[in-house]
Amino acid sequence: MLSSIIKSLDLVLFDQRCAHCREPAWEPLQYALCKICRDAIPCNDGPKCPRCALPGENRLCKKCVNTRGGFDTLVSSMLYEGPASALVLRAKFRKEERAAQALADLTVQYLDRDALPKHIDALVPIPISFRRTMQRGFNQSAIIANTLGAALHVPVKNSLRRIIHRGPQSDLPLETRRIHVHGVFKAKHTLSGTICLVDDVATSTSTLLEAANVLRNAGATRVVAITTTRCADGQDAKG
Ligand SMILES: [Zn+2]
Ligand SMILES: [Zn+2]
Repeated sequence: MLSSIIKSLDLVLFDQRCAHCREPAWEPLQYALCKICRDAIPCNDGPKCPRCALPGENRLCKKCVNTRGGFDTLVSSMLYEGPASALVLRAKFRKEERAAQALADLTVQYLDRDALPKHIDALVPIPISFRRTMQRGFNQSAIIANTLGAALHVPVKNSLRRIIHRGPQSDLPLETRRIHVHGVFKAKHTLSGTICLVDDVATSTSTLLEAANVLRNAGATRVVAITTTRCADGQDAKG
């Protein structure tokens, strides 16, 4: 009895704390953030690689010059910094579904729609393993894809299956992730048209490149991608 009261009290207090600075908020939170953190959201609207959204200069980055296949364009709404990275970490490692939903809503708000094809046939979230879904209770990429789908009026299809569970990419050096992720996805069915992959954060982009190649091999004619946040060159999405 007492423990359930403490638990519900904790829930009320917890939900009133900003997901980034952890200060109790005396006015309604927006996107799970207090007003100061909400106003400090870092948009990815500066110069960047037109293909992989890497912040820097408005020209193809070194990696994209040397990469064949994969996705045509990646659009990332925010930089992996400050309140935006806090939301990613809270969704990923602290199992906070409200953080995943806040990320999804912010991604829609700051999405550069002009950088995407006019017509997209389906949004496909990057799947997590069954074990990870059980641990976390939700797939944040699916929450983001569903929110984007409603905003863009594009159907969401769970067309990919993760067939190998190899542990988190974030435990590995950036340069070995392409090999680590090879062969982990399988298409559940044949595809056609323009498909848009959806994930929470783009770091080395290895996961998105691998998933895009699987979708192409399954029949997709064009593959683009959306992530909520984009890491800078050499930056890692860790807590
Ligand atoms: Zn705050
Ligand atoms: Zn690039």
